[in-house]
Amino acid sequence: MPKPLPLITPDNAPFWQGCRNGQLLLQCCTDCGAWRYPPAPVCPRCASAHGAWAPVSRRGRIHSFVIYHRAFHPAYAEEVPYAMALVELDEGVRLLLRIVDCPLEALAIELSGEVRFTQVTAEVSLPVFVPAV
Ligand SMILES: [Zn+2]
Repeated sequence: MPKPLPLITPDNAPFWQGCRNGQLLLQCCTDCGAWRYPPAPVCPRCASAHGAWAPVSRRGRIHSFVIYHRAFHPAYAEEVPYAMALVELDEGVRLLLRIVDCPLEALAIELSGEVRFTQVTAEVSLPVFVPAV
């Protein structure tokens, strides 16, 4: 069974294009300067419809994480246990990311690392988090 893929929409297409190119692009409000994630047509801080896509550092820290011991989708049955983390980027935005290349027992809140990309189809590369351990 194939894994579910993200739904690419006009609002989030630049994000996924960035991932395909190995770049983490986020929207930044051109009126108040707030980073915006998930992609949206208006700024959640000032309600401006103006924004631009820009690369961010890809560096961040684990704000919270969970280890899945049970597959909630059959396509992931072979991969448990695995971890997901809410990662706070240096820019202050939080992304929910799969953790890779890190022993599960080494995971901890505030562990720093960087976002990388895993290609899953010709169109989709998923951002993942690699803790520096
Ligand atoms: Zn704004």
